[in-house]
Amino acid sequence: MKICPSCYAVNNGQKWDFDEKAREKLMKGNGWEKHLCPGCERVARGQVDGVVHLRGDFLDTHKEEAKNLIRSVAKKKLHKNIAARIYHIEEKNGEMVIETTDRVLAERLGKEFEKAFSGHLDIKWQHDSDFARVYWTRD
Ligand SMILES: [Zn+2]
Repeated sequence: MKICPSCYAVNNGQKWDFDEKAREKLMKGNGWEKHLCPGCERVARGQVDGVVHLRGDFLDTHKEEAKNLIRSVAKKKLHKNIAARIYHIEEKNGEMVIETTDRVLAERLGKEFEKAFSGHLDIKWQHDSDFARVYWTRD
């Protein structure tokens, strides 16, 4: 059994999961070791497989909604794929830039922004489609 020292995900020998009860029980015994989960490993390596660029006047007046959406999309995705993490979020030159450790998470963020706020979505794939650059704009 493994426990990730960074995000406290638990690996039961088959898959990584967030199970607080299992973790507490496990930590009382000796049958576990510290081991970075695939998500924290990617973050530690600085592996970025997707970048989302959010732009437009709409963002200035809806920043909280935008941040809430980012959080909820990331949380849902994390339960499907432990390795899908937000690596970094930065606001610069009037845009919000989100780097993710997972290409699909970047695509999903763009699609959910289009679904929630309409606007314009453009996805560009690079490196044999392993890397996605996602542009969402609404003025
Ligand atoms: Zn972790």
